[in-house]
Amino acid sequence: MNYPQIILNKGKEFSMQRRHPWVFSGAIAKKDANLQDGDLVEVYSNKNEFLAIGYYAGGSIAVRIISFEKTTIDEQFWFEKINKAYLYRKHLSILNENTNVCRLFFGEGDGVPGLILDYYDGHVVLQAHSYGVYLQKENIVKAIQSTLGSSLKSIYDKSAETLSKHFSGQTTNGFLVGCPEEIIVKENKHVFKIDFINGQKTGFFIDQRDNRKMLAEYCKDKTVLNTFSYTGGFSVYAAAAGAKSVHSVDVSEPAIRLCDQNIELNKCHNHESFAVDTFEFFKDKKDTYDVIVLDPPAFAKSRDSKHNAVIGYKRLNTLAMKLIKANGIIFTFSCSGVVDKMLFYNTITSAALESGRNIKILHYLYQPADHPVTPYFPEGEYLKGMVLWVE
Ligand code: SAH
Repeated sequence: MNYPQIILNKGKEFSMQRRHPWVFSGAIAKKDANLQDGDLVEVYSNKNEFLAIGYYAGGSIAVRIISFEKTTIDEQFWFEKINKAYLYRKHLSILNENTNVCRLFFGEGDGVPGLILDYYDGHVVLQAHSYGVYLQKENIVKAIQSTLGSSLKSIYDKSAETLSKHFSGQTTNGFLVGCPEEIIVKENKHVFKIDFINGQKTGFFIDQRDNRKMLAEYCKDKTVLNTFSYTGGFSVYAAAAGAKSVHSVDVSEPAIRLCDQNIELNKCHNHESFAVDTFEFFKDKKDTYDVIVLDPPAFAKSRDSKHNAVIGYKRLNTLAMKLIKANGIIFTFSCSGVVDKMLFYNTITSAALESGRNIKILHYLYQPADHPVTPYFPEGEYLKGMVLWVE
């Protein structure tokens, strides 16, 4: 099938040839005047060589690429994309007898910018971050059904909050397949209650699975503080690993309620939770904790807020470094895409200097393999962390 054509300026084909999936508006020499947001388009070089197929959007990223081959974007296309993503995770045994929750599709990392699918023991949460993906919803649903077969229990569309304001009015969140039921998933044998309808993002921060597992190795007989705990992912691992005590802190009351339920579900008794601001909580604490987790929300969502975000990360980390017991361990993270690993490292260095403590770096942490990063799209790497030893 032929789609409307977009011709690039001379030299602008190089990024496509390097398989980068974005076309910026400034790279375009010629396009159909009637193009609408979400329309499928073919991208050509100035010499009229076919480069890719994508969907159009009116913003500074004008086309997001979904295929570098000339093909028809139909039910079969979506099945191949989603089935391939599923087989990749199966191949790596990300879903196994101890874990039935993972990210099933991660945007550019799996070859479709703007498409997120999270899998909770047969329940799938779909988030379209672009209108072009949203318009393909019907075929995406069919593809999920064909891929998962009888193991599919429901598909919930949670795109109203991720589509731009202009389009979010055209949809409401809701079930496309199946209906609500209580969902309890397993992650590395630990169980978690999931509320993707009312919870933040798609209901659970699946990206911290491997890092939670590492935290458990440092928690036996320790006093542990998990700040920005959300529903207690890190807290459950720490408590189950035999921590002397675990404190969870999150400003959101519903998150803390779910955190308490998760602790109970895992039959742990060494836990207390606090629905307060982390910075407030820190105020009167000193030498209380052996292990501290710092996993704040993205302080920077755009390049404009990068500077303030760095100040925020530095302040948070300096405080934790100052108050942790001698020979303590800090797990510190940033999930801001615009703060890259070098900048995060420099921010931690500057916090370390300001804290006056002697610090060693034990590990560098990243997002797990179900949030794949490709060499063609380094921007996909958003989660970074460090494990620090504080003398
Ligand atoms: N570590 C969590 C995910 C953290 S998401 C996990 O593994 O599941 C970030 C959390 O920070 C959200 O739950 C949000 O409610 C909370 N938050 C945001 N600002 C906060 C603040 N100032 N103090 C405490 N919690 C905050």
